[in-house]
Amino acid sequence: MSIEKLMRANIASLDPYRCARDEFEGVAEVYLDANESWRRYIDFPGDINRYPDPRSALLRKAIEEVLGLDYDMTIVGNGSDEIIDLLFRIFCDPGKDSALLMGPTYGAYKVFASINDIKVNIAPLTKDFEVDVPLVKKMIDETSPKLVFLCTPNNPTGNAIPYEIIKEIATYNSGITVVDEAYWDFSTEKSASALVKENERVVLMRTLSKAWGLASARIGIAMCSKPIHEAMYNVKYPYNIGLPSSTEALKALANAAAVREGVEYTKLERERLRGLLEKSSKVVKVYPSDSNFLLVKVLDANSIYLALQKKGIVVRNRSRELNCENCLRITVGSKEENDKLMKALEEL
Ligand SMILES: *Cc1c(COP(=O)(O)O)cnc(C)c1O
Repeated sequence: MSIEKLMRANIASLDPYRCARDEFEGVAEVYLDANESWRRYIDFPGDINRYPDPRSALLRKAIEEVLGLDYDMTIVGNGSDEIIDLLFRIFCDPGKDSALLMGPTYGAYKVFASINDIKVNIAPLTKDFEVDVPLVKKMIDETSPKLVFLCTPNNPTGNAIPYEIIKEIATYNSGITVVDEAYWDFSTEKSASALVKENERVVLMRTLSKAWGLASARIGIAMCSKPIHEAMYNVKYPYNIGLPSSTEALKALANAAAVREGVEYTKLERERLRGLLEKSSKVVKVYPSDSNFLLVKVLDANSIYLALQKKGIVVRNRSRELNCENCLRITVGSKEENDKLMKALEEL
C-alpha cells in the first residue's frame, strides 16, 4: 500500500499554508512581507523580531553532521510530543483507526491517541519486558493498526529492543512503525536510522531533551521517508521552532564531545547507583538499563515514594503500570544527587 493511502484523506489532499519565505529562499535586502516589527527591544544574538525558518535548515544541517541523520529525511518538532501528535493527526482517522503499543511504555503515546480520539491496543511485554513478537504479529493481524510504537530503550523499563526485532516487526507491519529512540545515546544497540532508509513505513524519533541536556528548548527530531516528510512539513505549525531554541540547540550540537563525556559519566553513575540500590534492604530488584534511569522494584513503592517526597526527593512511582508492581523509576542524577537519594532511602 502506498504511504498516501495510509494517510487520512484530508491530509493526503491538503493544500498547505505557505509563507513568503517558502517561495523565496535567498537573502533579501529588505523584508516587508510578514508584518514583523522593524525594531528589536531586547538584546538577542539574531533576528528575534523575525519569524524563524519554517524548515529549521541550520539545525537540521547540524543534526546531520553530529547525529548522522540525513538532512533531507529529518523534521524538527516542538519536542517529540509534537512529532507523536503529528503522526496521529496525519495517519489516524478519529473514532475509526487504532494504534498498537507495547505495555508498559511511554505514557504520551496513549495521551495523544486519546486527544485525537484514536483507539489504543496494548501488546504486553513479557515478564522480562521483552517484546512478545508472536503476540505483536497476531495483534497487527487482528487490529490493523495505523501506527505501531516501539520505544527503545523503553520507558519505564529501561531496556533496549534488539535491532533485528524492530526490523522484523516493521517489515511485518503494513502500517507505520514508529521507533522512539529518546534514550538511544545511552544504549549500545544499533539505531533504526538504517531501517528508515530501507523501509518507507518506518519513522524514527530522537530528542535533545535527555542526553543532550535541552529539555527546556523543546527539540524533537523525526527521520522519515519523503511522503511522510512532506505530510509532516505541511501539517506542523509553520514556525514550530523558535530562534532561541534553535540557537541553543546549535550550541549543544557544536559541543558534542562534552555531551558524550556526560553520557559516559551518567552510564558509570547508573551502574554505581545500581550497586548501591541492590545492597539496600528496601530494594527487591533493579532491572537492567540501557538508558539514564533505573526501574527499581522495592518492598512498598507507594510508601517509599511518599516518604522520599517528604525528604524533598522526587522519583516516579510506576507501580500501577503493567507488570511494574512496587516499581519506582529513578533518573540517574549527579553523584551528589544519587548519594542524597541513597542516604534518604537508608533513613526510612
Ligand atoms: C522523555 C521522552 C521523550 C522526549 O519527549 P520530548 O517531547 O522530546 O521532550 C520521548 N520519548 C520518550 C519515550 C521519552 O521518555
